[in-house]
Amino acid sequence: MSRVFNFSPGPAAVPEPVLRQAAAEMLDWQGTGTSVMEMSHRGKAFMSIQADAEARLRRLLAVPADYKVLFLQGGAIGENAIVPMNLLGTRRSIDFVDTGEWSRRTMQEAARYAHVHVAASGAAGGYTAVPARETWQLDPDAAYLHICSNETIGGVQYHFTPEVGEVPLVADMSSDILSRPLDVARYGLIYAGAQKNIGPSGLTIVIVRPDLLGHALPITPSAFNYTLQAEAGSMLNTPPTYAIYIAGLVFAWLEALGGLPAMAELNRVKAALLYDHLDGQSFYRSPVAHDARSLMNVPFWLPDARLDATFLQGAEARGMVQLKGHRVVGGMRASIYNAMPLAGVQALVDYMKDFAARHG
Ligand code: PMP
Repeated sequence: MSRVFNFSPGPAAVPEPVLRQAAAEMLDWQGTGTSVMEMSHRGKAFMSIQADAEARLRRLLAVPADYKVLFLQGGAIGENAIVPMNLLGTRRSIDFVDTGEWSRRTMQEAARYAHVHVAASGAAGGYTAVPARETWQLDPDAAYLHICSNETIGGVQYHFTPEVGEVPLVADMSSDILSRPLDVARYGLIYAGAQKNIGPSGLTIVIVRPDLLGHALPITPSAFNYTLQAEAGSMLNTPPTYAIYIAGLVFAWLEALGGLPAMAELNRVKAALLYDHLDGQSFYRSPVAHDARSLMNVPFWLPDARLDATFLQGAEARGMVQLKGHRVVGGMRASIYNAMPLAGVQALVDYMKDFAARHG
């Protein structure tokens, strides 16, 4: 068996110890004689797995006790519709900060339910920065303000939590949740698809402040009604049980590592290795503003797109896969989520140096 360094933006690499434990427990979870994926979601065994996963997530993020943690299906694109359905209530308008492709997708979906007000946009600068907080034009009557804490495609990440007054702050944290400590109390709602830093796709995590419950539009499907799901312990419908089990193992892995402060430090070291290399040379281009550089997704461009295929082939030959940039922007993108070891980033930097020397 040989494993590669997987730089996929998602579904992404899962920590190897987690995969090993899942493999060992595949046929018989802790003497039950069944695989977790064969268990009733309402049975004692699975209920304990879900409760353990939730407790670990609450500990890792220090989630305030009154906040609800929901394990849902539908992914982040699903949440782009589900959030407005649940939070609009009698309000008509939502504020957005547009930092790139995923912000735009979120606004497109929300426009089906509400007036979309762009409070600030990075479009004019080619989405290479987070618009400065002083420039945001906030609507005090907005149902909420939506940000994308890490633009997975553009590689633009918030390195501050914006102060937004009374309007609830809602964040799509799909590609940076659990990569660093977080002050959950500053947010009204956080959502994230699992397939980057948490585990398999199919699981969506929602963390919501309790006063935001109870305002769902009548058209909201029950399975996506936060209030009903909170009352049902995320079991109004069958939750993505196996994904929740793997998420629990990932949470345990993070705790054993020292939690989010330790993870954040490792992520900082990994990203610095790559960015320091990019800063010290002129072959590759990396246009994102330094104070908005993502520690999770690092896009870079070769001087000539005709070299892209050669670069990717050479990387693959060295056991590094999924470095191709998103089709919308082209170039390369190294996604270096929690599960990417430092050795993977080191191997990439070594290869980049070697490639530039041969093609520069
Ligand atoms: N938001 C962000 C920030 C993402 O990175 C992604 C997936 N790449 C999505 C939303 C969409 O997630 P999904 O396909 O799971 O709905």
